Amino acid sequence: MSNIILVRFNEIHLKGGNKKYFINLLYNNIKNALKEYNCLIESVDNRLIIRDYTNFDEDDIIDNLKCVFGVHSISKARELNNSVEEINDFVANLKIDTSFKCDVNRADKSFPIQSNEYEKILGEIVLNNNPNAKVDIHKPNVTIHIDIRTNGKSFVFYDIIYAYSGLPLGENTDGLLLLSGGIDSPVAGFCMAKRGMRQDILHFDSFPYTSAQAKNKVILLAKQIKKFIGAKYMYVCSMTKLQEEFHLNCNEEYAINLLRRSMIRVANYLCDKYKYKAIITGESLGQVASQTIESLTSTNAVAEYPVLRPLIAFNKDEIISIAKEIDTYKTSILPYEDCCTVFLPKNPIIKPKIKNSLKEESKIDLNTLLKYVIDNI
Ligand code: ATP
Ligand code: MG
Repeated sequence: MSNIILVRFNEIHLKGGNKKYFINLLYNNIKNALKEYNCLIESVDNRLIIRDYTNFDEDDIIDNLKCVFGVHSISKARELNNSVEEINDFVANLKIDTSFKCDVNRADKSFPIQSNEYEKILGEIVLNNNPNAKVDIHKPNVTIHIDIRTNGKSFVFYDIIYAYSGLPLGENTDGLLLLSGGIDSPVAGFCMAKRGMRQDILHFDSFPYTSAQAKNKVILLAKQIKKFIGAKYMYVCSMTKLQEEFHLNCNEEYAINLLRRSMIRVANYLCDKYKYKAIITGESLGQVASQTIESLTSTNAVAEYPVLRPLIAFNKDEIISIAKEIDTYKTSILPYEDCCTVFLPKNPIIKPKIKNSLKEESKIDLNTLLKYVIDNI
């Protein structure tokens, strides 16, 4: 009989022939997330079991597990053998002084008692040993879960802690997250990671118009989301020279549109060079002038990779509530400027036309300037 942490997954069950591959991926990602805990991780019978972590705090381990996508839920459990006697003995020693119910999941169909019947038997055992316990099958204060698996082991636990589900971060699915210092882009990275996309980070600054503090804030955000998105690299690209040229030579109304298109071109370059398969942004339809459907069409026109915008249909309050949940909100609202707020036009174009963007871009030596900013990443 030992203390273990039980990890369940859900969407992976739908993976048919690829299920083994995804379980393996999840196993490796958990191993990586828990590497400092020296624990053993076992993959058995549709569960992952974490054991031998005696010198560490279970709650710390669980906090780490919650950040691993593909994990559906987690329980602190006792591991027993699939023996009626052993389970009965264990349940007889539980101290219950409130309303309770027993919930039996019998995956091992060779276990001699059916779930419903066994729930009643175990309920009786609890009642016989705890004068203040009473059964409430609808709203019990305590649920005693007994998960009887096909590997000869049963797990007994009270609480189920839910994680984010989704799919484990995969191999060869890397994306490039355009991370500003705002609220939206860290949430966008989180959302794509939830679907298994590992991401590295690209940030644009406009030094000296943007400050070192502004960059440090983004570095802090990057550190905060790293555990979710699996980032290994952060690229910082200074757009100062390009922005100055746009400012001096181009129609002011197009300043942000031109900047956005150049951001995508820089992202194209990094995707080519480092084999990222998609560009991820925190854009949400209609949120600002640069996020109207016409503006998005204009930036898409220069993209050589899919631009994924997981927040496209999210309201700001929905985005904020995720930002709070993943703990990036407080950093995001620190009041530093972004390169998009430098040389901000009074009336940014709301419905840019691609032919006008091209006309504005032809007023400067765009290729040389792009090469310059890229060479300085
Ligand atoms: P956010 O809250 O993510 O900053 P936002 O609502 O301020 O978004 P914009 O400033 O229009 O919107 O930016 C839209 C998206 O463009 C961002 O979510 C981000 O993906 C990308 N982006 C904007 N500024 C930068 C930057 N300085 N570096 C990298 N990406 C950026
Ligand atoms: Mg922003």
